[in-house]
Amino acid sequence: MRIRRRRCRSVTVGSVRIGGRAPISVQSMTNTPTADAGATIAQIRSLVEAGAQIVRVSVPDEASAAALHRIVAESGVPIVADIHFRHDLAVAAVEAGVAKLRINPGNIQRPADVRVLAEKAASRGIPIRVGINSGSIPGHIREKLGTGADALWAAAERHLLLLAETGFTDTVISLKASDPMTTVEANLRAARECDRPLHLGVTEAGPSLEGAVRSSVAIGLLLARGIGDTIRVSLSGPPEDEPFVAWEILSSLGLGRIHPRLVSCPTCARTRIDVAGIAGELSGILRRIRGDFTVAVMGCEVNGPGEAREADFAVIGSPAGMILFEGGRRLPGTVQPGEIRSRLEHELSRFAEKQGGPAR
Ligand code: SF4
Repeated sequence: MRIRRRRCRSVTVGSVRIGGRAPISVQSMTNTPTADAGATIAQIRSLVEAGAQIVRVSVPDEASAAALHRIVAESGVPIVADIHFRHDLAVAAVEAGVAKLRINPGNIQRPADVRVLAEKAASRGIPIRVGINSGSIPGHIREKLGTGADALWAAAERHLLLLAETGFTDTVISLKASDPMTTVEANLRAARECDRPLHLGVTEAGPSLEGAVRSSVAIGLLLARGIGDTIRVSLSGPPEDEPFVAWEILSSLGLGRIHPRLVSCPTCARTRIDVAGIAGELSGILRRIRGDFTVAVMGCEVNGPGEAREADFAVIGSPAGMILFEGGRRLPGTVQPGEIRSRLEHELSRFAEKQGGPAR
């Protein structure tokens, strides 16, 4: 199925373009104290290795704004400053060199404050994301419309107008609810009503497994309709899981891939090897490898050889033990339980380099 992307304007976030004909980009966010520049830079690098192309950091105070100078200089990826309540911190973040601002219209509403930060962003040519969450819709809109899709869009529309009155139009919109279908409805509305790039995500999506499912439903439904220009999967878990899940969503829709694809059987009474354990090991290894190929883990010889022919690389349980296939051909010997990790790391790094997808 070919997805026709919605046409919209584009903005430039450092080295990444969002919207227009640009590929859908993957974002994530740090959870270290931003004032601790060293820890934040280390986490940003870890997120980038997992596939993040843009990273957002919270800027809750002056110490965080001051740390942004070093974070921007040493991160090697566009940094977005996440600003709430204080427009002066947005100004400080722009001066520190961030590539984009995210502001929350629920808590920066005064037209004079919006004008100051918009003029500052315009002076450096950086875009602003108007990020509306269902938990922080401005009071007067909440009283009238509640917290559903109409309220999310109304809050965004009002703030876009506020920014437009200052002459600022370099904007991205996000409309996020913790309920996936409210998120979908709000973004369908935004896609109909405006031509701004849309940042997709589900807010407070939950722990890794629940959050991955809810995010996949909302983001996947929208992307399948051609809506969405950049995505962030929000998880209460290791931040590095976020870009991983985001890329799995894009890959499942044929919209992009950076890591090899891992498939594994569900196991049954015929299972001859520890499929879950091996798939877990492989998942960790493959997250550090770039490449467009498929790796399969199959518990027995029933479907194993067929899957091995389909996959580029396969690990299969057999009466003789664990055997490996590459390009549909069996590699010599068997793999002993104690050497699984080192053998798989070695074989997959070699395979990724052979495929031209550099191992990292
Ligand atoms: S591949 Fe074998 S072990 Fe895995 S589910 Fe199928 S029959 Fe069971």
